[in-house]
Amino acid sequence: MSDNPHRYPPSAEKLKWSDPKSNSVGLPAIIASLQHMGKYMDVPSALKASLKMNQKDGFDCPGCAWPDPDDHRSPIGEYCENGIKALAEEATNAKVDEAFFKKYDIATLSSWPEFKLGKSGRITHPMHLAEGASHYTPISWEHAFKKIGTHLNKLDHPDEAIFYTSGRTSNEAAFLYGAFVRAYGTNNLPDCSNMCHECSGFGLTQTLGIGKGSVTLNDIHEAEIILVIGQNPGTNHPRMMTALEKCKENGGKIVAINPLKEAGLIKYTNPQRPLKMMSGGVAIADLYLQVQINGDVALLKAIILLLLKLEKEHGNIIDHEFIEEHTSGFEEFMNAISQEDLQKCIADSGVSEKLIRESVSLIAARPKMIICWAMGITQHENGVQNVREIVNLLLLRGAIGKPGAGPCPVRGHSNVQGDRTMGIWEKMPGTFLDKLGQAFDFEPPRKHGYATVPAIRAMYEGKAKVFIGMGGNFVSATPDTDYTATALRNCHLTVHVSTKLNRSHLVHGQEALILPTLGRSEIDLQQSGYQFVSVENSMGIVHNSKGVLAPKSPHLKSEPAIIAGIAKVTLRDKKDISIDWDLLTADYDRIRDKIEEVIPGFDAYNERVRLGSGFYLPNGVKERVFKTKTGKAIFTVNKRPEMTLSPGTFRLTTVRAHDQYNTTLYGLDDRYRGIKNGREVLLMNELDMSEINLWPGQEIDVTSVYEGVSRSVKSFKAVPYDIPRSCVAAYFPEANPLVPIHLINRETHTPVSKNIIVSIVKSA
Ligand code: SF4
Repeated sequence: MSDNPHRYPPSAEKLKWSDPKSNSVGLPAIIASLQHMGKYMDVPSALKASLKMNQKDGFDCPGCAWPDPDDHRSPIGEYCENGIKALAEEATNAKVDEAFFKKYDIATLSSWPEFKLGKSGRITHPMHLAEGASHYTPISWEHAFKKIGTHLNKLDHPDEAIFYTSGRTSNEAAFLYGAFVRAYGTNNLPDCSNMCHECSGFGLTQTLGIGKGSVTLNDIHEAEIILVIGQNPGTNHPRMMTALEKCKENGGKIVAINPLKEAGLIKYTNPQRPLKMMSGGVAIADLYLQVQINGDVALLKAIILLLLKLEKEHGNIIDHEFIEEHTSGFEEFMNAISQEDLQKCIADSGVSEKLIRESVSLIAARPKMIICWAMGITQHENGVQNVREIVNLLLLRGAIGKPGAGPCPVRGHSNVQGDRTMGIWEKMPGTFLDKLGQAFDFEPPRKHGYATVPAIRAMYEGKAKVFIGMGGNFVSATPDTDYTATALRNCHLTVHVSTKLNRSHLVHGQEALILPTLGRSEIDLQQSGYQFVSVENSMGIVHNSKGVLAPKSPHLKSEPAIIAGIAKVTLRDKKDISIDWDLLTADYDRIRDKIEEVIPGFDAYNERVRLGSGFYLPNGVKERVFKTKTGKAIFTVNKRPEMTLSPGTFRLTTVRAHDQYNTTLYGLDDRYRGIKNGREVLLMNELDMSEINLWPGQEIDVTSVYEGVSRSVKSFKAVPYDIPRSCVAAYFPEANPLVPIHLINRETHTPVSKNIIVSIVKSA
């Protein structure tokens, strides 16, 4: 039987579709926001929280990692529709309490779709699922911690435990978690970053010396041209639209590069500007290049070849001074690019020569260039090569380390970048481990741990037996759903620190625990008084976040308190570890003092984090200081991926709907794409559909075959969409069962969720 947990009961399926929208946000976004608040929150809480979200004295939106303005913030609302949906999910009045778990057994809950599970509400008590039991039952915090400690201490080696982190975890919790896990004896600290921007971090570190972007919001405003590649900001980072609008108002040009036409990249109506609303919004993309799936390297090479041709003809295209002074590898790069065939690059990109030439004209005339990207670039076998080719284009133009220019990988989850800065990584450098050891007086393990995909394989193969998830919905976020479900079921114990019910609580180990935690919007009271936490956004700004709402249950604990509870019990008999966990969690300033001791860039942390808009972490690239192996920014040679498809096969990309945030489903619609009340759809080019005799709405089975193993999803519905020929798209996580666990980017273990070769047949 397939474990695909994302099936919907047939009665729920009344799928409708209409033409996709060509304008984003505006009045419909205001209405959707109000509807969500009204439906799930009481009015006083909704008002109180929405006025404090993303404000200098408030809490950070638990949604994406888009930065807030340094200076002026709108007092009526510094958030987007999806920020409000994230808030409404967290601050919902619905509760999953002891009575709920008494009423519903695991088998019943397992038959519920993800959406219904999420909407059940906030978990109010720690819960335990005993071996062979049919129901979760309440457990005291003390007993829960004891159970975890007993399981961890029973393992033959600490490397048999996996400690996963999702991107919502605060700096303080992440740092404490990393310290505990290493004091316990392993570096098994996989995180969600392993599945999203790992290729950005790897490619940027190799070429520029730091695994982060270098631009600020002001840079976006003053860029002369922005390329938005493999990213759908209208849904996944909606306030980025305001920054793009400003760029346009300042005369900037925007080139969108994406297989699907996305409303947010076409037009934006700023809901905070009534006059703009009345005039129908502002066009975003000056050019829209519908690249075929995985045609990005070919497209970038075609752009580079045409720029080099212009340089030959007229000069003034390549920034020779910058290249001479600040880069290495230029000669090898030029040798390799000169071997490329322009027409082959154009053909492989799937974009017309005319459009490519037009985009080259825009780029050539505008030296202040930013390139933004997201998962459409990174979740590929050649994800690192994609990122490095982006860097090549920027270096060629000298568009790095100056105002209005640079690389901008846009992170999806609110503190995913901060968690990595805090040491959530399976292979942190020795310098970090040395300092961590000094700060806490122990010797951290040096052996690298498992990233997410290797961690799944280790659980599957029985090499790892305990799984602890600090947030997240592991089985839904990860690839190859059936395989991952088996991996979790193989564990002796699975533990989830969660705010709400999700699929991973039901795909469990022999024993399971759910540890309910505070949400971002909630007040965190510890022994020394009210606490705040801190986070780092996509642009490297660290700032504070202080909840304002009363916790949904008196039994909730903060993430630092949960980590301390587990650590105290687990490490009790380790004589060489003398960390005072209570002292650290009584006052988070003490955790921040330790962070300051260990991590560069956090000097005077407690002081600076209290400044309203926080502080920028050091980023040498901004000053053209490149900490690479050559001491300069490095040009690279990147192979153009093979783009041939066998007859009857398609390239599948997974995408998020507008009513969705990662694995959290806010609803079953995708307003911008015109899809209503259904998620098991396959977006297809109309000509492809007629070629294989599919009518709109036809039920189809989709199959991927990798290394001889076949994976299928059944009874999806074919929906015609504006997408290049031979390319198809389906929603994450419904299409995750098709993503083979062994199909990864080799340098980073990133699953290939954006280029899966599939075949399609009519359902029987
Ligand atoms: S853009 Fe991102 S961080 Fe800002 S309110 Fe929307 S979801 Fe939250």
